Amino acid sequence: MADYSKLSINQWTIMRQWSLPEAIEGYARHGIHAIGIVREKLREIGVAEARRLLRAHQMTVTGYCIGGLLTDSDPARFRANVAETRQAIDEAAALAAQCVVFVAGGLPAGSKDLPAAQARCLEGLADILPYAREAGVTLALEPLHPMTCAFRSCLSTLGQANSWIEQLRAGPELGIVVDVYHVWWDPQLARAIERAAGRIVAFHVCDWLMNTVDLRLDRGMMGDGVIDIPRIRRLVEETGYDGYREVEIFSERNWWRRDPNEVIAIAKARYLSDVIGDS
Ligand code: ZN
Repeated sequence: MADYSKLSINQWTIMRQWSLPEAIEGYARHGIHAIGIVREKLREIGVAEARRLLRAHQMTVTGYCIGGLLTDSDPARFRANVAETRQAIDEAAALAAQCVVFVAGGLPAGSKDLPAAQARCLEGLADILPYAREAGVTLALEPLHPMTCAFRSCLSTLGQANSWIEQLRAGPELGIVVDVYHVWWDPQLARAIERAAGRIVAFHVCDWLMNTVDLRLDRGMMGDGVIDIPRIRRLVEETGYDGYREVEIFSERNWWRRDPNEVIAIAKARYLSDVIGDS
């Protein structure tokens, strides 16, 4: 029998097609029992109903998206995003999510001061970490590809994520997400993954299309692009990571337009093939 016990699918992959109840029921029908949940989708039904559905379908929540965006120079907006992240931590605790995916935030409008944005994000993290620790929730730093530095994430590499964790002297309440889409190009990748040993709490897979038409919303299905996923997976698992492989595909022109059952069937087939590595 095919083993999908470590396969998780992030809701972004079928973002345009399915609500959270449809996703939970749909995944279960396909024999998949792990999901990355998107906050906006959770809010459509609320935490209590989500918990009921997750329990009914024996679904593990591998990640909750997102917290963070802590780079704003306007104090009121900065505080609002800190409060939002705390709320995401509460929701993640209620869902027993394995982590809250933390996206740093980009440059505030009109600013060119990247070090200041990064310093504010570190301040915000320092402020929130005790709250996460208390809640028993891991905030997982997800470095995003440097092409998103201006508008989404001033945290661009795994090396930088390692340094932030060291600077903050954080405990298990702060971890790392390795997403192949964001880190595959990095010449320091092997060293950075090794240095992240014990901190990696999630592993996201998709592919980088050679002919990509949008830098954010045109990700490929595993096997359709240029990323050596088995190599990165091996590096991650050599650190001792034995968690889920979470399929996360933002795809305006292709996968978001397909029948979600077909998307899942293809993701399952690719998962078992050698484009991810031996299962
Ligand atoms: Zn990701």
